[in-house]
Amino acid sequence: MKAIVVRPATKDSIHMRDMPDPKMKPDQVAVKMLRVGLCGTDAEINHGVYGKPPEGEEFLILGHENLGVIEDVGKKVTGWKAGDLIVSTVRRPCGMCPQCKAGENDMCSSGQYTERGIMRRHGFMAQYYVEAPAFLNRIPKEIRDFAVLLEPMSVVQKGIDHAYLLQRRLKSWTPGFAMVLGAGPIGLLAAAVLRARGLRVAVVGREEPTDLRAGLVKQLGAAYVCVANKSLPDLPGDTGYPDLVIEATGVSRVVFDAMEILGPNGVLCLLSVTAGDTMNPEPIDRINQKLVLGNQVVFGSVNANPRHFKQGVKDFVTIDRKWPGVMNRLLTNRIPWEDHKKWFTERGSGIKSTLEIA
Ligand code: BGC
Repeated sequence: MKAIVVRPATKDSIHMRDMPDPKMKPDQVAVKMLRVGLCGTDAEINHGVYGKPPEGEEFLILGHENLGVIEDVGKKVTGWKAGDLIVSTVRRPCGMCPQCKAGENDMCSSGQYTERGIMRRHGFMAQYYVEAPAFLNRIPKEIRDFAVLLEPMSVVQKGIDHAYLLQRRLKSWTPGFAMVLGAGPIGLLAAAVLRARGLRVAVVGREEPTDLRAGLVKQLGAAYVCVANKSLPDLPGDTGYPDLVIEATGVSRVVFDAMEILGPNGVLCLLSVTAGDTMNPEPIDRINQKLVLGNQVVFGSVNANPRHFKQGVKDFVTIDRKWPGVMNRLLTNRIPWEDHKKWFTERGSGIKSTLEIA
């Protein structure tokens, strides 16, 4: 079958090639890929700074944001049929740590997990893949057009879920105001979820207020704040101090500014995976004092549990009913998969780019 691969740790190695057809076992299904979403992680892997091939192999089939359709079902599989629309989870358990054994491979503590299209396991930029049903999410027809966003949505769901879980340290926590840093797909999905839960939301970005992203933010009933010429720590003077901050800019420098804008008892969720080794001086006394005196929490969150995919599907249905068309408008660049190199060399404008496979 045709697949898009990289040679991990080698810069700009992405190309299409013939890879062996996957062999379906009796307890698996065979899925025909329809489209994959592209994100910063894919770019970093092709840049040679992240990702690993499966044990003993030279190439890694790239791609983790996925949408496919079941084409064949193994003899031992029940409850799934050809034609079912599917989004697969990304991470697979290490099989040895207590978290993976308890079904929380997104919290793996051995570091020996695998991730499709990222770490030691082939991904979804291929004509087909095979998988055990335990890792699949059924997609209702009404969200089909933007269901390729479910994997990034699951990352957002986990961050928000864990923020609420952490805040159970308080006898009462009813967040009124959330700030989302970054108006990329993750930031916009976070804004949609928080608005659907009734919070006042401000999305902070560097794009001009006339940008499509700012327009979508407003459609969701959130405020858009352009910080092209402003400093983040100054913002709460105008907007108020947030109870919850979601950091999704992909820029580690912003993380430390974000620690300065939290309100009392506030929680800051970090979602950006940043490769590199940038050094930067920070006002550490001020940051530490604020965090301590404000009883604030800063935490990182990666990947997602199956329950976050399920909640993502539910929220997509709610969001699309409340604000019809907004989720679809996140998918700005639909690229035939043969033309994948264009995105990896130019990136270009737009919000979410997808490779159309079938
Ligand atoms: C993916 C996650 C993955 C993380 C770290 C992100 O881009 O969405 O599923 O766990 O990268 O590899």
